[in-house]
Amino acid sequence: DKTVVLITGCSSGIGLSLAVRLASDPDRTYKVYATMRNLDKKERLLECVKGLHKETLDILQMDVTDRQSILTVRGRIVEKRLDILVCNAGVGLMGPLEVQTLDSMRRILEVNLLGTIQTIQTFLPEMKAQGQGRILVTGSSGGLHGFPFNEVYCASKFAVEGACESLAILLQHFNIHVSLIECGPVNTDFLVNLQKVELGDTSLQEVDSHTLSLYEKYLQHCDSIFQNAAQDTEDIVKVFLDAIQSPTPAFRYFTSSVMSPFTQMKITEPDGSQCIRAMSELIFSAEEQ
Ligand code: NAD
Repeated sequence: DKTVVLITGCSSGIGLSLAVRLASDPDRTYKVYATMRNLDKKERLLECVKGLHKETLDILQMDVTDRQSILTVRGRIVEKRLDILVCNAGVGLMGPLEVQTLDSMRRILEVNLLGTIQTIQTFLPEMKAQGQGRILVTGSSGGLHGFPFNEVYCASKFAVEGACESLAILLQHFNIHVSLIECGPVNTDFLVNLQKVELGDTSLQEVDSHTLSLYEKYLQHCDSIFQNAAQDTEDIVKVFLDAIQSPTPAFRYFTSSVMSPFTQMKITEPDGSQCIRAMSELIFSAEEQ
């Protein structure tokens, strides 16, 4: 029997690469349900899996914020079983907090936090009944320590950490392993897809000049980090495979050590001041006059 895997957010990035890797596994071990919010975007995935047998891949529409679409997908799993659920869909939100609208903040929390929780919730009863399963979640360094101008994104990713850790404690009693794959910067469409306040945006006219100059520095830092230190999705997929193939998966996997000093500092310097100072220096001090 094939291992049945469902992945969210497969039209691009990490989700797409993972779907391609698992669906094209030489041993045909996996049956992949690659889901995406907008099926018009399935060409890229189809392109990457060209020539594959249909038996390893099915592409289905699923918006993690739309419960009905999740239920519909659940009904279309022909194996009537889910071995591995990968909650990967997510979006970013970047800019001074003062200019974020309630709607845009809600949207991020709805996709990243409630979308993840609602997806897990939907498949939980059958996984519990099966007495086995794995839940893998694409985590972020933004879920482990703060980044300026990413308050709501980090809040959503911190929240995902809390939800997963809480679930992991319970689900071990059902032989269900929960794992977070903690990513630093990855070369994907993330920066294109995220909701970002651009420097020329009219909403910034009301923002004070000090914040604006810091935001400008942040954006430069962000560009250079993504240009110089971002991982490729293949590197992330390898870590997913480690977790999938391990008989006793860990709760957290780190894909890169780039940001780990900050994660370390949270433990070694629990009062937080050193971590906050170091992050500020890293991002803002380079061009400080
Ligand atoms: P991406 O933008 O290429 O992929 C995100 C996918 O999620 C897209 O296919 C998008 O269509 C999908 N999506 C968005 N809203 C959705 C919804 N409501 N329902 C279903 N799908 C939806 O970027 P990515 O880097 O591949 O992102 C995947 C995950 O990795 C996200 O959770 C992101 O937060 C996380 N992550 C990314 C990075 C990075 O630097 N790229 C770093 C850390 C964590």
